[in-house]
Amino acid sequence: MSKPACAGLDALTQLIEPYVSIRANPLVDPICVDGIGRIARALRRAYHGGADREARHDMSLASLFGGLALANAGLGVVHGLASPLGGSWNAPHGALCASLLPHGMAANVSALRARASQHPALERYVAIARLLTGRNDATAEDGIDSVQALCAELNVPPLSAWGITEADLPGVAEKAARASSMQANPLPLTGGEILAVLSAAL
Ligand SMILES: [Zn+2]
Repeated sequence: MSKPACAGLDALTQLIEPYVSIRANPLVDPICVDGIGRIARALRRAYHGGADREARHDMSLASLFGGLALANAGLGVVHGLASPLGGSWNAPHGALCASLLPHGMAANVSALRARASQHPALERYVAIARLLTGRNDATAEDGIDSVQALCAELNVPPLSAWGITEADLPGVAEKAARASSMQANPLPLTGGEILAVLSAAL
């Protein structure tokens, strides 16, 4: 997986997680929306054509906005898992986040529907889907599918590519539950749900 793909998908994760986090706030909402829109129109272009200055400009702004957003609103399950994984395996942070992102989004959407169906993060997942697909009728699932397709196009490898095995996952899930990023996830996930995100990304 190339460095631009890692950096670009980490930037996307750093905009999506603050936008749905329990600490989401009016300071970061507009920069998350703007940044996700920029990534939707620029990441593929920047990846396939490194000389596309307009696309790279959009990506650098999106990356800056992601940094500002995470500092002011926190992150979530994807970074909660990327942290213990990055500490134990020699894998690029962006590659770890990218492989976990669609599965972390799916786990949150499903847990919110089951346990907090009025939670504002659910509408935010729909807004993310509309930004990513450019379609006003997109659902939260369409957003997850869109991230999955983007990861495939940018050649995001599964976690197993870094030597991570099924047997490693329970220990990682346990550490992730205590990670600081996890505390800002839109709702607490169960140990089983965290493990399922890892298994899906393996
Ligand atoms: Zn990150």
